[in-house]
Amino acid sequence: MADKIDEIIDFDKTHLWHPYTSIREPLPVYPVKRADGCLITLEDDKELIDGMSSWWAAIHGYNNDFLNQAVQTQLGSMSHVMFGGLTHEPAVRLGQQLLELLPDSLNRIFYCDSGSVAVEVSMKMAMQYMHSLGKTEKKRFATIRGGYHGDTFHGMSVCDPINGMHTLYQGVLPEYLFADKPNCTYSDTWRDDDFQSMQELVEQNHKTLCAIVLEPVVQGAGGMYFYHPEYLKKVREICDEYQILLIADEIATGFGRTGKLFGCDHAQITPDIICLGKALTGGYMTMGTVVATEHIGEVISAGQPGVFMHGPTFMGNPLACSVASASLDLLVKNDWQEKVNRIEKQLSTELKRCLELHSVQGVRVLGAIGVVELKESLTSESMATIQQQFVEHGVWIRPFGKLVYLMPPYIISQSQLKRLTDVMYKILSEGKYL
Ligand SMILES: *Cc1c(COP(=O)(O)O)cnc(C)c1O
Repeated sequence: MADKIDEIIDFDKTHLWHPYTSIREPLPVYPVKRADGCLITLEDDKELIDGMSSWWAAIHGYNNDFLNQAVQTQLGSMSHVMFGGLTHEPAVRLGQQLLELLPDSLNRIFYCDSGSVAVEVSMKMAMQYMHSLGKTEKKRFATIRGGYHGDTFHGMSVCDPINGMHTLYQGVLPEYLFADKPNCTYSDTWRDDDFQSMQELVEQNHKTLCAIVLEPVVQGAGGMYFYHPEYLKKVREICDEYQILLIADEIATGFGRTGKLFGCDHAQITPDIICLGKALTGGYMTMGTVVATEHIGEVISAGQPGVFMHGPTFMGNPLACSVASASLDLLVKNDWQEKVNRIEKQLSTELKRCLELHSVQGVRVLGAIGVVELKESLTSESMATIQQQFVEHGVWIRPFGKLVYLMPPYIISQSQLKRLTDVMYKILSEGKYL
């Protein structure tokens, strides 16, 4: 077994890229043998309680019988057929379920490959919409600083310009408009001046603005930041006032993670286009979805060239649609609201004590997301060390920058979550990773 583990690690180190890594100074990676429920089992049989849901996705945990069954049943009839000129029940059934969950006005569904591609598709839709209306000068986008919208070029163009290293791609990456990140946090009292930066940006640029793209209420990978829902209401109003579309990137916030089914529900607003991904398939398969209003679809189809110009090879993949369908069934059947509320309460109670630590700047919790922000960013060395300490203590928590956070599967038990928060407190209080 030691041989097998060595072989995995050696080959990986020699030939595989990991997300955002250097091949010269690779950080350690841990070989996984299997994953069940909220447990990740390493090749050496060590069990880790999962605090990450594999980046927001595995909301029902791993190796779920119902989801497995959905994939297996589908596999028995077809794993894939092209979506050009063909359709199938899994795509239709998933669409019906999405319409049940989404606001009534969002009813034109485009299936695609991943979150980043969903963002690309949404931005192309917005541009084609304006083009069809004859407003060809409206082709720029605006967003707020601190966001994350994926790693493809247009997704990157609305990521935070500093985190996203925009200077690297200067001259090729489109240069869009950034309003200040809202200062009022989710729990602050709203102050109107928090909208001033976006207000000015829109007033000065509305003639060339096609859409505002943002993550509603929770900025995820860009900083795990929770802003005031009133900000979203203001964005909705100003978009309506100046004929700008609102694209809600709910790839991270969708399907209950923030305590509401969708992030926009915190402000009771409806975007013109919504992007979904991550938890859509319960973490089983890569899939993105863009849902727009009928009006946008109509306008695009009435204009030139009269079709929406996108069509991925694996569009509407039946395996992905089937498992997404099953995941949405589980979401509703298993009372996600009760589960997320319970996690929120427990995280709030148990993470509070991290505030005593001198290394900690702040603690925040919303829905099934618990964040401890440190005063200093972790270096890549301290990141490797803290990761190893977490693994030694039997938990899977992967910090980045100043942020040590938990985003567990909704099915996590009270004692498993307690273990995650206890270990987090212990490792941070010992401070041996510095
Ligand atoms: C993860 C994420 C994306 C990108 O999704 P991928 O599936 O990684 O391409 C886009 N937007 C948000 C808000 C995300 O959290």
